[in-house]
Amino acid sequence: METEYDNGERRFSFSSNIYGHRTIKEALKSLQHHKCCFCEAKITHISHGDIEHFRPKAGFQTSLNGRLTRPGYYWLAYDFSNLFLACQICNQSYKKNYFPLADERQRARSHHEDYRREENLILHPEFDAPEAHLTFEQEVIKPLNGSVKGEETIKRTGLDRKSLQDNRLEYLQILNALAKIARGHGPEAQEAQAHFRTLGLPQSQYSLMVNSNFPDLV
Ligand SMILES: [Zn+2]
Repeated sequence: METEYDNGERRFSFSSNIYGHRTIKEALKSLQHHKCCFCEAKITHISHGDIEHFRPKAGFQTSLNGRLTRPGYYWLAYDFSNLFLACQICNQSYKKNYFPLADERQRARSHHEDYRREENLILHPEFDAPEAHLTFEQEVIKPLNGSVKGEETIKRTGLDRKSLQDNRLEYLQILNALAKIARGHGPEAQEAQAHFRTLGLPQSQYSLMVNSNFPDLV
């Protein structure tokens, strides 16, 4: 019986009423400051957002159009540390069931194995520091110092998609104008500097872009 689940012949069923319960979603919204765990856009004022399983619950893929290997990380389906709030586009159009590892031999295939030995290639929104792997040149996101994890994360979660880049650029143009004021003198400069300090905090949208572009002002 257990073997049939282990080799993917029988499928686990999961209840979205549990992992997607209102209390879970509210907790994630608050912890993530209402931002998508991947693209850092604020989402909850226009969308309910998706509950994303960082380690996919039903099955995983290691490459684009690669086959779905079952089972997935069924034992983490209701584990809060595996749940994040994501926008529909990052989750449904990009991340989906991708979960590549640096070394496939380390992959935990059942609850008997320790998934913490795995080296995930998509950055974990809580345990990996994005600023160690990703940077911005203006609105364009890039892997920092050739980071493989940074590169994989950009590719697998679509962080360089045009619509997102256009939206970041629109915001950045205002920030560039504000930076000129902030680098000047007088009360307007102080006011602009105070804005930058807030915009560089995790609570603010696209804060990694702000920190990468304006290190002298955040
Ligand atoms: Zn997103």
